[in-house]
Amino acid sequence: MKLYTLTCHQAIELIKKGEIKAEELVLSVISMIEEKDGKINAYITRTFDSALEEAKRIDGLSEKPSLAGIPIAIKDNICTKGILTTCGSKILTGFIPPYDATVISKLKDAGAIIIGKTNMDEFAMGSSCETSAFGPTRNPHNLDYVPGGTSGGSAAAVAANETILSLGSDTGGSIRQPASFCGIVGLKPTYGRVSRYGLIAHASSFDQIGPLTKDVTDAALLMKIISGYDPADSTSIKIDVPDYLKFLEEDLKDIKIGIPKEYFAKGINPEVKSVVLQAVDLISKIGAQCEDVSMPHTEYAIPCYYILVASEASSNLARYDGVQYGYRAEVRSQKSEVRLLDMYRKTRSEGFGDEVKRRIMLGTYALSAGYYDAYYLKAQKVRTLIKQDFDKAFEKYDALITPVSPFPAFKIGEKMDDPLQMYLADIYTVTINLTGVPAISISCGLSKEGIPIGLQIICKPFDEQMLFKIAFTLEKYLDRVKKELYNNKALTLEREI
Ligand code: GLN
Repeated sequence: MKLYTLTCHQAIELIKKGEIKAEELVLSVISMIEEKDGKINAYITRTFDSALEEAKRIDGLSEKPSLAGIPIAIKDNICTKGILTTCGSKILTGFIPPYDATVISKLKDAGAIIIGKTNMDEFAMGSSCETSAFGPTRNPHNLDYVPGGTSGGSAAAVAANETILSLGSDTGGSIRQPASFCGIVGLKPTYGRVSRYGLIAHASSFDQIGPLTKDVTDAALLMKIISGYDPADSTSIKIDVPDYLKFLEEDLKDIKIGIPKEYFAKGINPEVKSVVLQAVDLISKIGAQCEDVSMPHTEYAIPCYYILVASEASSNLARYDGVQYGYRAEVRSQKSEVRLLDMYRKTRSEGFGDEVKRRIMLGTYALSAGYYDAYYLKAQKVRTLIKQDFDKAFEKYDALITPVSPFPAFKIGEKMDDPLQMYLADIYTVTINLTGVPAISISCGLSKEGIPIGLQIICKPFDEQMLFKIAFTLEKYLDRVKKELYNNKALTLEREI
């Protein structure tokens, strides 16, 4: 049996029944990383020795915790005690966190095994996993294409069977878009559902950690472990975490779904439009009631998002000054006050990449005296209008369905010289972070080039259960009709990339 092809729920069963050992599973995943990652570049750091040690410990336990022995890859902006954490940036050179993020402590308690830290756009800024200081990650379905970003390493690792589970973070689409480009499942939880303690901040009022998995059941399993109130994160919310697995049932009767017409308007790639609308037809046939809805403020989402995230990032990234940790540039001046200023300047100039510097400049400008009202404050007001679009839609609908990205994965290098084109990739995902609602991306077809295309299901705050129910049903039906839909090249778990 090729153990690396297993889903998490399949592997758990086999480990619990004693049919396979955690050590065998970890070794199988390691063999895939060794075989493929030279080309894909999903990992920045590999933690094979500690993973094998932990697997042996778990094999020796008579009572196995819920994720016992399951290898998981962690995006490199989530702090892991004793393991290099780079955020994809030169500025964090040599940074080894002295503590675990809350999600990591929860995973360790559940018996999951960290297999490595995954590549990402620098400081989670980008849409293609090309802004990393560690070189781009490549899409396992075709190495000439990007895997999406910013959790591109986490998505590619799952798609290439280089891990069983992974964690990513999503500020404007960074879990959902790479999940869509790599043909897997990615979920951005409600803001406040998962603790951000130990997540290196990009834009604090947007960031959430979430799962990237081979199927919907695995996403539910992982969400159950990582969710919940955390006193260490003042924005996490005290609401019970339901048993998400109980909502994995095939039943869409009485469910009302809105299809926002602005998400299918000018600019969308025709293949994406047709694949997503085919899935919407299927959902209607299964029993949900789907109808068009208007979200009139969608067109302002990109400028609003980029002003706000750049503002928050410019403030969050002020802490990287070369003093306490990470990279520090050499300076020569004799005068100490000149030396200090030069050190800050040179450290930041040499340590940050172009996209990060662009955001720091944009954000500093938007927050500066005289421009604050015209940019930052106005963008906050637009954020409220966009939220009102969602509040209104959710008075009538249980869920909304949209594409994840206006186009399928593009070629490496295709958009790197044009930041605006790169920003436009986020048009359908940033509204979700602007409003804080949860959304899941699941694969629903393939492009002519054989690259996966995903759709996005969006629900009310803290209604992840509904996301799981719809996504699970759709996944099951798509599986059954995949032969006609996309030539049997679909995303079976036994696939060999
Ligand atoms: N592409 C978006 C950005 O660059 C998304 C980032 C993210 O979700 N981390 O801001």
